[in-house]
Amino acid sequence: MFQTEFKEKYPHIIATENGLLKDYTYTKTGGAAELLVFPKTKDELHHILTFTKEKNIALTVLGNASNVIVKDSGLSGIVVMLEKMNDISIDGEKVYAQAGAKLVDVSQFIQKHTLTGFEFACGIPGSVGGAVYMNAGAYDGEMKDVIVSVDVLTRDGEMKTYTNEDMQFAYRHSKIQETGDVVVSMTLQLAVGQQNLIDEKIKKLTDLRQSKQPLEYPSCGSVFKRPEGYFAGKLIQDAQLQGYRIGGVEVSKKHAGFMVNVDNGTASDYEALIKHVQNTVKKQFNVELETEVRFIGK
Ligand code: FAD
Repeated sequence: MFQTEFKEKYPHIIATENGLLKDYTYTKTGGAAELLVFPKTKDELHHILTFTKEKNIALTVLGNASNVIVKDSGLSGIVVMLEKMNDISIDGEKVYAQAGAKLVDVSQFIQKHTLTGFEFACGIPGSVGGAVYMNAGAYDGEMKDVIVSVDVLTRDGEMKTYTNEDMQFAYRHSKIQETGDVVVSMTLQLAVGQQNLIDEKIKKLTDLRQSKQPLEYPSCGSVFKRPEGYFAGKLIQDAQLQGYRIGGVEVSKKHAGFMVNVDNGTASDYEALIKHVQNTVKKQFNVELETEVRFIGK
């Protein structure tokens, strides 16, 4: 049993056996993780990487779990949650944040220091690690516009610093998606702004989000990427799919790009509904919808 061995070897690392992931995911779906671990430092994270490599055990890293659907059968091996690695600090117009810091907290920190350039991220419910991995963006900005560098641990446990260019950022893409590196922290370059303008912009974007998105229900945000030349939400709306439900998950009536868990839905419900929407849109408009949300698990 690798769980017992891990706990004996690293008694100081917080670890839970068979931790239910639906307690952590934004969709409130997903089975159990064989071992759920919560490193507090880079060294602890390094130990975890070494252990999984030596023992050839699967490793999954989760941030705020706002862009994943974990399958109902759960995850084998070790699942790392980075929420305890959440330092944020400032040096002039540069801001440093660890992977487990919430974007919302980073955004509030930046606002408090009268820096501008990060307002776009104020309502994205992810962590720094997940936002770097996804090159998260909203309205007029994305992570690639403000990132100077990203510190990672490779799967071999080597510490590396990537520049913005190294990261090969593109629409909802970074090179971490291919390398499997674990994001440890990021450094942002911002600019001194005017407090009233920063506050106004954040308020405007927050109001916009609240009026357009079904934030009252569990979801994973926009399920699909924007197809070239179209908007996923508009296609789904035109296909009359709003309100269409499978099990406990339905296409949101408020925002067609979202699928909300309205009644104890499961990951299988999400999977089936996504397939149904993709097939319908393909049939009616000949457009392929590619998922932005990431399915993980057995
Ligand atoms: P997770 O969901 O935990 O993980 C996403 C992927 O990143 C996984 O493959 C995971 O393995 C990987 N990952 C996470 N942390 C690390 C790490 N430290 N190192 C390596 N890999 C890592 N997204 C937008 O871009 N714009 C929006 O406006 C937006 N609005 C949203 C609104 C709602 C209501 C919801 C629920 C989601 C929204 N999202 C949006 C989606 C989501 O918040 C972003 O994609 C976010 O960046 C995901 O971060 P996370 O920490 O939750 O990542």
